[in-house]
Amino acid sequence: MTAPVFKGLIMGVLSNLEPKEVFGYFEEICGIPHGSGNTQAISDYLVKFAMDHKLRFRQDEAGNVVIFKPATEGYENADTVMLQGHMDMVAEQDPDCTKDMMTEGLDLFVDGDLVGARGTTLGGDDGIAVAMELAILASHEAEHPDLECVFTVGEEIGMVGARALDTSDLKAKYMLNLDSEADGIFTVSCAGAARVVVRFSGGRETLAGKALKLTVGGLAGGHSGEEIHKGRANADIVLGRAMFEISRKTELRLVEASGGTKDNAIPRESSAIIAVSDVKAAEEAVSELNHNLGNEYRVTDSGVWVKLEPAEAEAGFSRELSERIVCFMFTVPNGVQVMSADVEGLVQTSTNLGQIYTEEDSVYFSFLTRSSVNSQRDETVERIEALAAALGGEAEVGSAYSAWEYKADSKLRDTMIEAYKALNGREPKVEALHAGLECGILSGKMPGLDAVSIGPDLTDIHTPRERLHIESTGRIYKLTIETLKRLR
Ligand SMILES: [Zn+2]
Repeated sequence: MTAPVFKGLIMGVLSNLEPKEVFGYFEEICGIPHGSGNTQAISDYLVKFAMDHKLRFRQDEAGNVVIFKPATEGYENADTVMLQGHMDMVAEQDPDCTKDMMTEGLDLFVDGDLVGARGTTLGGDDGIAVAMELAILASHEAEHPDLECVFTVGEEIGMVGARALDTSDLKAKYMLNLDSEADGIFTVSCAGAARVVVRFSGGRETLAGKALKLTVGGLAGGHSGEEIHKGRANADIVLGRAMFEISRKTELRLVEASGGTKDNAIPRESSAIIAVSDVKAAEEAVSELNHNLGNEYRVTDSGVWVKLEPAEAEAGFSRELSERIVCFMFTVPNGVQVMSADVEGLVQTSTNLGQIYTEEDSVYFSFLTRSSVNSQRDETVERIEALAAALGGEAEVGSAYSAWEYKADSKLRDTMIEAYKALNGREPKVEALHAGLECGILSGKMPGLDAVSIGPDLTDIHTPRERLHIESTGRIYKLTIETLKRLR
């Protein structure tokens, strides 16, 4: 092993853990700062590993590294296998932790069956994948076909490494992604996504009537993929509904609107400055809406409220443009669109109005649409575009990535299920995710790729409470080794 070059690493904290080689590499990785966007050092560490082990490799401009290892004896004619994980981690720390995660390694500790890092995230997501891949690349015992080990950067900040990766020289027919967090669950499909931003613009006019601030708050929010089916309210959508209800009772003019901070989160707060001709009528509309929301979201989002208060404003959009914007907000598709018929309980297609913002004479609406069926993602995007066009808005579609669609025939999945049963004496669960994984981007670039995602138990990822489960790590490593052995 190479000597650590960063301070903060206490060598040997994990040295008694099994599998020794996996935890040895994991500890080395934890000594190198590798938060998303700060991955040059870890990328160079992987290059040095490849050179030290005389393995062919390439490092691209983004910082992704691919290391190639030839097939072992008897596997020369077997199909190539990709092992894949991301080298970046979410760098989060407790408020009282003084560590500089840009320059210092982590302070690891072992607590029973758990590994953690004092005061910070551990980066078991996805450092443990990197460690397992290095252990296999360094191994003289493991039997396997030609290997392509793909280490990406920036997974946690929009999968930028996977997007940038050139796959034209990769021959893999199978891909084992090691970025899941639950032992015993095989993920075999994930959603693709597309962003749509709709803009409405127009000149401003001097306002008649009384300016008011309309605020929506008290919502639970949540992840726009994994929690979209929980029946929670979307603050931006409630804002549109409130304005629509007000506009039915009195003339409404929009001055500005804002809500939400990210496309991939269900917004918890939103607000608008409006002007109305009849304040009392607007208050009645809001009071009735509060009553209805309390009833509709009694179980799923009971804290939601809408509030009106006096405000100051001089100029707003015309009555006609205000009506078009309010109509768009009131009718645009949002939330779960279609449930899967293949996988029980899986959301197949959804869309989330994640952000509203106003810049000068334009109001913007930003959506993230997800689907495990690419054509249905496109259909939903087109529906938003069509509605925007009919109401005089402009839509721009950006940063789309493909779904990782469920494969009815998968030799890799079948092989892994058999390997899992042989090792553990029980069946794994086979699941699909309504969220993005790098498998979506890579299988989009490599048509026909047969992929499964697994990983050891990792709890509270992306928080300083993150813990990696030791025994589970051993099981996943054995499963990986056994799978490679069976792909002859
Ligand atoms: Zn991850």
